[in-house]
Amino acid sequence: MRYIEPHGHMVSRTTDDYLAMVTAGCRAVCEPAFWAGYDRKSADGFYDYFCQLTDYEPKRAAKFALPHFSWLCLNPKEAEDVKLADDVLALIPEFIDRPNVLGIGEIGLNKNTRNEMAVLEKHIDLAASHERLILVHTPHLEDKLKGTRLIVDALLNDKRIDPGRVIIDHVEEHTAPLVLDKGFWAGITLYPESKCTAARAVDMLEMYGRERIWLNCACDWGVSDPLAVPKTALEMRRRGDSEDAIDRVLYRNPRAFLLQSPRFAAVFSEDAAPAERG
Ligand SMILES: [Zn+2]
Repeated sequence: MRYIEPHGHMVSRTTDDYLAMVTAGCRAVCEPAFWAGYDRKSADGFYDYFCQLTDYEPKRAAKFALPHFSWLCLNPKEAEDVKLADDVLALIPEFIDRPNVLGIGEIGLNKNTRNEMAVLEKHIDLAASHERLILVHTPHLEDKLKGTRLIVDALLNDKRIDPGRVIIDHVEEHTAPLVLDKGFWAGITLYPESKCTAARAVDMLEMYGRERIWLNCACDWGVSDPLAVPKTALEMRRRGDSEDAIDRVLYRNPRAFLLQSPRFAAVFSEDAAPAERG
């Protein structure tokens, strides 16, 4: 089996996790910038974090022969501080051309506030002006539906944004159609405690089809499972899905989205033998 982990916060994980992932068939891992579990006190903290995402972590993954890619942003949880947000946004152009940087993410909303919206729009502008892909985080629980609507509208309001180049993550049953119907990609996040179980994820695939959908584990410093994506293959097999269908959702779908980034293509197209493409 082969798969891509399109959303893992690997700076929070151990080398044992890297080993387990490659053993399970992981062919690439992508790491969005996110909340550290505490608020960073200044833009300098983000500068160091962006160095880690674009320099040190790819080297750590390379020890396991795993291509590592990253996304840059100030996460929505810290976007309430507009001055900090402006300082961090000003840093990103310095990093955006680094070879493992796919685009801007995970941006979005947390509590759907006015400041978060303003910072979201600035991130969208940054991605559009540099012609980069976008990865979106959607809020949790009662804020999810409204937040997803606000995010979709903000993206569609910017005419430079092609929905086919945006992945909206952490979708649930009530938000997936909102995202997919507008031409965006949808990410389903598999979590042991919150978000989505494997069974629920496969239910969603059965409901909404397999086009423009990927699965991810979003493993981080909390209770999370770096092997949640390959484990979902077992649930698909139980339901009678073919190996080809599993390969499509776990590998070919994320690859198709990510190949829109020339930086991903530069590293990754050499990874897959021609016979495996399709
Ligand atoms: Zn995340």
